[in-house]
Amino acid sequence: MDFRTLSFSVYSNSFGCHSYENCRGVYQLFPFWNALVGTAFRLSPSRLFGRLQRYVSSHSWPRGMLRPFHREARERSMSSAVTTQVTDLQNYVNGAWRRSTAIEYVDVTNPATAEILARTPLSTSADVDAAVQAASDAFPAWRRTPPGERVQYLFKLKNLLEENIDELSRVITLENGKTFPEAKAELRRAIENVEVACGIPMMMQGYNLEDVTPGVDEMQIRQPLGVVAAIVPFNFPAMVSYWFLPYAIACGNTFILKPSERVPLSMHRAFELLEKTGLPKGVINLVNGGKDVVNALCDHPQVRAISFVGSTPVAKHVYTRSAASGKRMQCQGGAKNHVIVLPDADMELATQIISDSAFGCAGQRCLAVSVAVTIGEAQKTFRDSIAHAASSIRTGNGLESGIQMGPVITKESKQRIESLISAGVGEGAKPIVDGRNTKIPKYESGNFLTPTILDDLPSSSQLANTEIFGPVLSLIHANSIDEAMEFLRRSPYGNQASLFTTSGSAARKFRYEAPAGNIGINIGVAAPMAYFPFSGWKESFFGILHGQGRDAVEFFTESKIVVERWSRQETRKF
Ligand code: NAD
Repeated sequence: MDFRTLSFSVYSNSFGCHSYENCRGVYQLFPFWNALVGTAFRLSPSRLFGRLQRYVSSHSWPRGMLRPFHREARERSMSSAVTTQVTDLQNYVNGAWRRSTAIEYVDVTNPATAEILARTPLSTSADVDAAVQAASDAFPAWRRTPPGERVQYLFKLKNLLEENIDELSRVITLENGKTFPEAKAELRRAIENVEVACGIPMMMQGYNLEDVTPGVDEMQIRQPLGVVAAIVPFNFPAMVSYWFLPYAIACGNTFILKPSERVPLSMHRAFELLEKTGLPKGVINLVNGGKDVVNALCDHPQVRAISFVGSTPVAKHVYTRSAASGKRMQCQGGAKNHVIVLPDADMELATQIISDSAFGCAGQRCLAVSVAVTIGEAQKTFRDSIAHAASSIRTGNGLESGIQMGPVITKESKQRIESLISAGVGEGAKPIVDGRNTKIPKYESGNFLTPTILDDLPSSSQLANTEIFGPVLSLIHANSIDEAMEFLRRSPYGNQASLFTTSGSAARKFRYEAPAGNIGINIGVAAPMAYFPFSGWKESFFGILHGQGRDAVEFFTESKIVVERWSRQETRKF
């Protein structure tokens, strides 16, 4: 089956419904309707259904992608199957789906096929005001809801995410392009964050000490901030939102999310699931849009804190603009991640892991290795093995089985990455594997590049310090670990640094000295589990408290110190 004819119908029909239950059958039937549309008009519904079932059973689909659908929904879907209008997404405000007041829209495009899946409204400051008002109104009752009750909604959310993981993964692949297994791995980390936030009744506890002076007790308690917001990037359409949402609401805040306008469908679907948990209206709100929504959130006096993840220039902008209205900020920015390969490394392991890191998710990961610095003899062995690994990667539509790398997000991204590769070549690098000008059969309109390896990139080149955010690995050679560490120190970014070695003392030196927030020793993507904060230094992070883990609890709460004295008489009564 050609997925180019599938995705369009899936979204033109499912995202127009406010209730997923009402359009569930439509969602599941339409791919097959499309496949059979040429013959469907000549078949009775029962014969058509029989043919669909035969079609489905003769194809291999990711597990759970298809589920039985109901007769009623099937009939409804038949009547609307000819409608191919692209759906304009709505916002979720005060417990209801609402049309945005936007006059401009952005197409949501499948990067593998170039088909338009939906349109994102570029919401206005009036839409932001409505969401902030709803969140503000919901706050007093929500903060009084006991933490143990608040997390019950998260337990429900975890179950809903588990039940719908295959369908959600498929949505991620459709809008972002990463492979289905990569999308599923993304959701696993999202679910892990929900699980960790279920522990808020323990994690949010303060501490106390009796008799700091005779008869006087002192305690620290944590209280929610109020209305908080998160602004997220395109590369993890589902996961990044869960670095913030579960912790924010479990701590008693009310929440506004602005997804990336390029990939809004995963969180649209997630909000349909959140709606099913029965969360009180106004506790969670979704405002679609671009920079106007971001700026309105930064400026709004009732928004107490903003969590941002995206590129460094926008992270800086959000950080400084929000500071002007006294907000609490955590802004995660871009990256240029180095790995050092020592000659004593297990070269087979290093090759496999570094290849996964550099080319997984088409290099569109803030923890993707971008520069490998080889020391001594590692230069030749690693260069040969990584070139072989890169050339063996199967690139294509991430929904097809066996595909290891999908497209990049937009045509502009593809062009930008290709011109950065050319710039690197202009600066003296040798493209020993060249992924430019890739065309994938059947997907000529997709934004595909295959992996690229630039050998001998001069360490002083501009590209050595430029974030590429695509499937490109540059190789630099150094004579010693100290010389290699110097490259890392010069980098403006500090998101991740990795070392491959079998030497404990080299590993310790690296852990001790490497100037980055996330360190990998024989690890290519040092993504912290949800119960550790996701760190980041230098131009990769602006703020103090990071997302995930204990930092998240501190970020989403205010610390209050109480010093308490009761009269002796009063005390004696008890
Ligand atoms: P981006 O900065 O273009 O967009 C991020 C968010 O900011 C989006 O919601 C977008 O709508 C908004 N935005 C974009 N331009 C804006 C502007 N001029 N004013 C106000 N708001 C604006 O980032 P992206 O392309 O979506 O994501 C890729 C970037 O994110 C990469 O640089 C990557 O390294 C970074 N990233 C960092 C981390 C991390 O943890 N440090 C994680 C994921 C992605």
